[in-house]
Amino acid sequence: MLNFRSMRHFVVLGGGTAGWFAALELQRLFGTQVSITVIESPRINVIGVGEGGILNLPGALARYGIQEAEFIEATGAVLKLGFEYVGWNTGRDDDVFYHLFHAAPNAADGSLVDGVPVDWAMLVANGLGVQYTESALPLIQNNASQTETLGVRSALGARLPTSMHFDAHRVAAYLKRVATGRGVRLLEATVQQLDVAAENGYVTGLRIEGNEQPVPVDFLIDASGFARMTLDRQFHVPMRTFSEHLLHDRAIPFYLPHPRPQPHLVTRAVAMNAGWLWQIPVQERVGCGYVYSSAHLSDDEALQEIEARVGKIEAVRTIRFQAGHFDDVWIGNVMAVGLASGFIEPLEATSIGQMLGQVQTFGELVAGSAYIVPQTSITTFNERNRIDWMGIRDFVRMHYDVRRRDTAFWRDVTALTLPETYATLKACWQHRLPRTADLQPYRQGNFMHFEATSWISVGQGTGVIPPQAAAADLARLPRESVLKSHQFMMSVKTRFALA
Ligand SMILES: Cc1cc2nc3c(=O)[nH]c(=O)nc-3n(C[C@H](O)[C@H](O)[C@H](O)COP(=O)(O)OP(=O)(O)OC[C@H]3O[C@@H](n4cnc5c(N)ncnc54)[C@H](O)[C@@H]3O)c2cc1C
Repeated sequence: MLNFRSMRHFVVLGGGTAGWFAALELQRLFGTQVSITVIESPRINVIGVGEGGILNLPGALARYGIQEAEFIEATGAVLKLGFEYVGWNTGRDDDVFYHLFHAAPNAADGSLVDGVPVDWAMLVANGLGVQYTESALPLIQNNASQTETLGVRSALGARLPTSMHFDAHRVAAYLKRVATGRGVRLLEATVQQLDVAAENGYVTGLRIEGNEQPVPVDFLIDASGFARMTLDRQFHVPMRTFSEHLLHDRAIPFYLPHPRPQPHLVTRAVAMNAGWLWQIPVQERVGCGYVYSSAHLSDDEALQEIEARVGKIEAVRTIRFQAGHFDDVWIGNVMAVGLASGFIEPLEATSIGQMLGQVQTFGELVAGSAYIVPQTSITTFNERNRIDWMGIRDFVRMHYDVRRRDTAFWRDVTALTLPETYATLKACWQHRLPRTADLQPYRQGNFMHFEATSWISVGQGTGVIPPQAAAADLARLPRESVLKSHQFMMSVKTRFALA
């Protein structure tokens, strides 16, 4: 049992995006009756590469009373409508598929018939990408401005879901301003050691550089990024690695100017010889980076390949990581969030989304338990968190289930073992499109990242879901629904001048 009612000293170790969002959640839970301190090291910078959110970001801002317009202004953010994948099947620049944010098709307006998103099925059955169902596509293709996109969003409401691209350094700085303005204390210091009680393994204090007295701790949120001060360094919690299923372990970030007059409205993921290149626009530039497998490419070769593609760059640094997460993220009076709890890779921008989901569930659990949390709930929380990571792993893995075989990396990654959970679903999706019910195993987690339509978008693009699967679904639907969606497809072909 953990009795939050008697706690007075809440400490967040780390002042990156994860640490400041966690501090805001603590403040939401405990108000100003307790002390909440964020410790950030003046010597260890936040990871901060150009970053993108997913669809739970706007909800999180609302949860913490942050206006979207103010966030955009303060952080250099721009609207994001989804992801664009270039070259994943052939290596060519005209090989493009999209995973756009979209409103879920529903039975009420006839877009979902017998569990089948009927217009989507028609497109897939005819070998076309599902992006043509979305109002986002013309905005992306026409390089619409932010003002224009906001205007279309006001008119369409939930039919144009958006998230944001942002500069992580500016996000951390902005959240710091918000949280400290609401009474969260900032301590700029480097933690060197944790004091741990012998009797129960609880952290009681943090030893900081140049100070005799430890910072007292009743509850600690570890948001120390890749330093992983608690789960790894202190508690040696086993890590569940995904290297059996995913190969990336390096990234070289850099910046480019905008290639078009307006910031692109999607994250571009361009397939490279041993991985992919992200291109994430913010207001003044594009944050880029090559994510690759060090077993297939040295750092120098990676740099050469980048420069062969985009010209001379100034590489910021090389980031090393291992895809995976810690088994348990909440142990005793410590919970790790963000990179301190795990990381898979930047594909589909899941890291901040996962963190926000975890932090919100933590808040709901503590409040829902009337501030006295039984150990069984903490055990379940950890289990649900593992399920979230499994869902992300499987969705990311699907992106590498492509037709490309031209380099050693693409031959190796496509041949890796599929996680059993994904392999089972893939087998069904040879005969029919993904259904909401298929995703039930992932839904047992803290929050569902991707709906069936997201899996269809990527499955169609990668070729995992064949046209026959959609055709088989259409064959079971009422004739009038199929005719209507056929008309829709014909109008799409005319509008977008498709063959
Ligand atoms: C290559 C790459 C690309 C990514 N792209 C995306 C993306 O597109 N979308 C997305 O959602 N996520 C992305 N992520 C993940 C994202 O960067 C993180 O989830 C997010 O920035 C949160 O980081 P963090 O707060 O956990 O850690 P950090 O930002 O690294 O912050 C760590 C904090 O801990 C402090 N600290 C560390 N050690 C100590 C110590 N001993 N004493 C005191 N303070 C200490 C540091 O000073 C810092 O304040 C990416 C990550 C990488 C590596």
